[in-house]
Amino acid sequence: MKILVPVKRVVDYNVKVRVKPDQTGVDLANVKMSMNPFCEIAVEEAIRMKEKGLAEEIVVISIGPAGAQETIRTALAMGADRGIHVTTDAAVEPLAVAKILEKVVGEEKPDIVLLGKQAIDDDTNATGQMLAALLGWPQGTFASKVEKADGSLKVTREVDGGLQTVAIALPAIVTTDLRLNEPRYASLPNIMKAKRKPIDAKTPEDYGVDLSPRLEVLKVAEPPKRQGGVKVESVSELVSKLKNEAGVL
Ligand code: AMP
Repeated sequence: MKILVPVKRVVDYNVKVRVKPDQTGVDLANVKMSMNPFCEIAVEEAIRMKEKGLAEEIVVISIGPAGAQETIRTALAMGADRGIHVTTDAAVEPLAVAKILEKVVGEEKPDIVLLGKQAIDDDTNATGQMLAALLGWPQGTFASKVEKADGSLKVTREVDGGLQTVAIALPAIVTTDLRLNEPRYASLPNIMKAKRKPIDAKTPEDYGVDLSPRLEVLKVAEPPKRQGGVKVESVSELVSKLKNEAGVL
């Protein structure tokens, strides 16, 4: 089996983001960037499948600016075999990403495309589903467990009411949820080895995909500041505040 893992470079999850003064987006100047956490989980799962002898090759792909190459190297250091970097400085929406991935799937012919359930920058949670629709492949989204059966996958999905298990025929799309696994750290020897693993350099034009945006961001704003708490003397005072000040009773 061959597994394709799309990985996105995003603002590190520990960074407290700042909104640009003109409210057009988030300020990315001098901000630490890392692999999207859900993509790390996807890379880890692909490596575990390879370690179990279920997969032979893991190809990672990232669509983004020059820095995305670092993200691909991180995945190679974790254990992926080779990378594809589709270089663009444009903001790429999920539909454009899915269209590029559709073309890459046509060339690479993977058995599984393993994506994160969402990228923590735009929180769109759309790329995997759009790719499944474009390819006409079955999808197992929000996976907390993936098991291989003959010619199919058994995917346990995290849904609102609990866990749902589905069987999907290969080739298939899987998107990862938080509890699927705990990604490994790359060891120093593997970081060194990853420097010699190949990364193909591509552009969106190579795939003939139009990146022009379909969405218009009207405004990006900070969440309202949290108000400080107050201590109350009695239950009746609490009830009165909830009723008259908070308006929740
Ligand atoms: P999203 O639909 O944007 O929330 O992203 C879901 C998943 O799609 C991510 O976890 C990645 O696996 C993949 N993805 C989204 N954008 C990109 C990108 N620019 N390059 C590679 N993979 C991406």
